[in-house]
Amino acid sequence: MNLKNNWGNTVIVKHQDHLYSKYSHLKQGTITVKKGEKVNAGTIIGYVGNSGRSPYPHLHFQVQRTPWVGSKNPLSSHSPFHLLFRKGARTSFIRNTQNRSKGI
Ligand SMILES: [Zn+2]
Repeated sequence: MNLKNNWGNTVIVKHQDHLYSKYSHLKQGTITVKKGEKVNAGTIIGYVGNSGRSPYPHLHFQVQRTPWVGSKNPLSSHSPFHLLFRKGARTSFIRNTQNRSKGI
């Protein structure tokens, strides 16, 4: 377990302005996307792991308003979560990846 890097290997997907989803603790060496790459629903972006501060493999999924790791996810009526399910909101962009392994 890495106590300095809480989120481990992370991919952040931009769905639209102020709507990002974050996928953390991904398995080392499994991130398959690059920054700026366009992805669709169903695109594999990496595999579940326990990189970072994670005692066991799990996907840390978060919807947030900014592209930064560690961004707060406001639990309020202003949460952007519902925007993910709008009709036509299927294509997104990879906003950021961290700690990608060499050779991908
Ligand atoms: Zn977690």
